[in-house]
Amino acid sequence: MRVAIIGAGITGLTLAHELLKHDCTVTLYEAAPRAGGELGTVSVNGEPVERFYHHLFTHDQLMIDLANELGLGNRLEWPEPEMAFYTHGRVYPFTSPLDLLRCSALSPWARFRLGLGTLLLQRREDFGTFEDRTAASVLPSYVGQESFETVFKPMLRAKFSDHWNDVSMAWMWARLRSRARTRTPNKRRERLGYFRGSFRVIVDALLQSVQARGACVRLGAPAEAISFGGHGSPAVSIGGVAVEADAVVATVGLPVIRRLLPEAHQGFASELAATSYVGACVVLLELREQLSRFYWTNIADRDLPFAGLIEHTNLVDRERYGGSTLVYLSNYLPRQHELFGLDDGTVVDRLVGSIAHVFPRFHREHIQEAWVSRDSVAQPVIETGYQRRKPAYASPIPGFYICNTSQIYPEDRGTNYNVKIARECVTQLLGDRVALVRR
Ligand SMILES: Cc1cc2nc3c(=O)[nH]c(=O)nc-3n(C[C@H](O)[C@H](O)[C@H](O)COP(=O)(O)OP(=O)(O)OC[C@H]3O[C@@H](n4cnc5c(N)ncnc54)[C@H](O)[C@@H]3O)c2cc1C
Repeated sequence: MRVAIIGAGITGLTLAHELLKHDCTVTLYEAAPRAGGELGTVSVNGEPVERFYHHLFTHDQLMIDLANELGLGNRLEWPEPEMAFYTHGRVYPFTSPLDLLRCSALSPWARFRLGLGTLLLQRREDFGTFEDRTAASVLPSYVGQESFETVFKPMLRAKFSDHWNDVSMAWMWARLRSRARTRTPNKRRERLGYFRGSFRVIVDALLQSVQARGACVRLGAPAEAISFGGHGSPAVSIGGVAVEADAVVATVGLPVIRRLLPEAHQGFASELAATSYVGACVVLLELREQLSRFYWTNIADRDLPFAGLIEHTNLVDRERYGGSTLVYLSNYLPRQHELFGLDDGTVVDRLVGSIAHVFPRFHREHIQEAWVSRDSVAQPVIETGYQRRKPAYASPIPGFYICNTSQIYPEDRGTNYNVKIARECVTQLLGDRVALVRR
């Protein structure tokens, strides 16, 4: 079977990796000059680092298995970094349960409610009725209004921007469960995974493996359209030429898929518009000086122009980057937000001025280099009732499949679940093929 895959991020590469185990002929079309998508990297003193911050959780078993399968298991390291949150002009450590007890940003009663409510939610085995209720309507009854306003509401805003009020409680439940499961056995800290050499090692190993097994990977080859020929075979247009396949799998975001589909299928394309997205605009800074001891600082202050400050070199030793400190300023924003239209220098200027509010030891002269990365389809908004709206792998158009982050539910989207959906999609595709041949 000839399969054309649109997009060579982790999903597209894993699809190819799995399909090649089943005697398929695979072609990958990637718009960018390099494979990797959101796992793309830059080089700091010769060491690659992701444009968008990345780590794994201890229960991201599918990614761990994939790393082992590719001979990269020994590249995974599991540091136990410190976390914090910034509110009302102060940074509060937020790593351990003891930090919660000491957190004077909350009243003692609010701390108690937060600890108890979170524990109750983490112990719940399934999301049940949370599917149809928003996190904003359920959380206050578990953690109290004060903790919701101080901790959870800024967290929801940080991830879903203006859509924070629409997010399903099922998503929040899955996220809380996930964070609890990645704690050390004594529950004091979270243990997070990172590849020596960055997530690029996984991308490169997958790329080499699929190419060695005969996949054709066309980089710098954006799919311009998907068409369906006289015999119903799907085709992908590249450089004005339609290349036929038995199946086409699109791993790109739903708004991109809608643009690629032909006029005749705009009815289906408009169904895909039911899922909204927020974009990500992330600045990575190489600094001369360390900022703090924290890996992750949630910014619960709407006056600051970023929602997360992630000091990567408190997860990975800065010596690996020639002694430089690496800091990400993170923002999820509406897709039309002006930051997506501004040049890189202006974006950096807008954001870095506020770092000193959080960590006063920061000075602009510490910046050695800055990179701005944007992705306008970074995060699907997981609204209530999402289970019913989630796109299926097999679309109603014969031979056309969708496999992208919009199908990750209720878990927070991440590489582990990209591997999961890729495997599920391959099972579906092969099953459909067998059924077609038997007919
Ligand atoms: C800020 C941020 C932080 C994250 N942190 C983590 C983390 O800590 N841990 C974790 O596990 N995950 C994390 N993720 C999520 C993870 O990066 C994604 O789930 C994963 O990389 C998505 O892979 P993908 O292949 O589905 O999509 P993408 O990586 O987006 O790949 C899609 C590919 O399609 C290509 N493309 C687009 N249009 C076309 C076209 N017309 N023709 C051909 N190709 C096209 C793109 O160039 C891209 O390479 C994070 C993501 C972001 C944005």
